[in-house]
Amino acid sequence: LSTADLIEEHRICVCVRKRPLNKKELTIRDLDVITIPSKDVVMVHEPKQKVDLTRYLENQTFRFDYAFDDSTTNEMVYRFTARPLVETIFERGMATCFAYGQTGSGKTHTMGGDFSGKNQDCSKGIYALAARDVFVMLKKPCYRKLELQVYATFFEIYSGKVFDLLNGKAKLRVLEDGKQQVQVVGLHERDVKCTEDVLKLIEVGNSCRTSGQTSANAHSSRSHAVFQIILRRKGKMHGKFSLIDLAGNERGADTSSADRQTRLEGAEINKSLLALKECIRALGRNKPHTPFRASKLTQVLRDSFIGENSQMTVTTCIILNVGPLVKMPISLLELTVDTNQ
Ligand code: ADP
Ligand code: MG
Repeated sequence: LSTADLIEEHRICVCVRKRPLNKKELTIRDLDVITIPSKDVVMVHEPKQKVDLTRYLENQTFRFDYAFDDSTTNEMVYRFTARPLVETIFERGMATCFAYGQTGSGKTHTMGGDFSGKNQDCSKGIYALAARDVFVMLKKPCYRKLELQVYATFFEIYSGKVFDLLNGKAKLRVLEDGKQQVQVVGLHERDVKCTEDVLKLIEVGNSCRTSGQTSANAHSSRSHAVFQIILRRKGKMHGKFSLIDLAGNERGADTSSADRQTRLEGAEINKSLLALKECIRALGRNKPHTPFRASKLTQVLRDSFIGENSQMTVTTCIILNVGPLVKMPISLLELTVDTNQ
């Protein structure tokens, strides 16, 4: 199967985004082992300092739907990844966009926006860009007549527990009824009327996510953040877009840590990323043995993977974020290798 067939059949798009080298990395440029020679190819080579010339020439190449090099802006990444999914939810579909990768690879920058400077700006993240286009689409005559209402939710999954980021991190229960419909009880669905409303919620959620933490990144790297835009028509679900800043995928290595809590977190993250892979493979096919219950993340996203009913289309996009260092891409690429099976 070619990638094009995969998109056609299962509606999955898998992309890679390389972040620019930071100041420290610029001083040791040889550690940059990822090259993006064309718009859909990623080349991985060994660090120059460790290998002789022959081995350095043995590059490995991987093909993706899109490969974005370090000069690509969020707006460009958005245009080829999440933008088409905005259309999906207007056409009665379920859409999901994941940012996957190691801590420090640029997931939060891609999804949430720029948090590096003093002026934290969430308006350039994919959450905000998607929200902007939802309100643009809403004004189109063909959709205006549907009288759709827009809602947003923002929650976090940490160690298998769900917390509402729009309600002071209230702990939420996840219930599944006899028909396997999953409900996050008490999750605040905020009514939003314009992009500014959404930006405010993203800010509230982001500060809630990191409040009380000694190190913001240490905490957020161990939790999945889920931001959703929901379209309802006369109260009924019309479409839902879930945008997810996943926990750092390196945490699995911590399952041997001496600290019990770290070990448990590592095991939980491993479990959820594995379950996610299984569910992505089964995407849209409603396989009875799909292990949605294997993790809180996949359980909560169940309806996004199979649609609330057979009329709903299901589309997923995965952005693999990579930094320049050697160990990162291999585990990330597993996901694409797997979807090709
Ligand atoms: P993650 O969420 O995967 O742990 P972050 O998004 O926090 O990673 O990124 C790590 C650092 O790299 C941050 O300081 C962020 O501002 C910076 N960064 C990430 N991606 C980019 C990018 N595309 N352009 C500029 N800086 C980036
Ligand atoms: Mg992050």
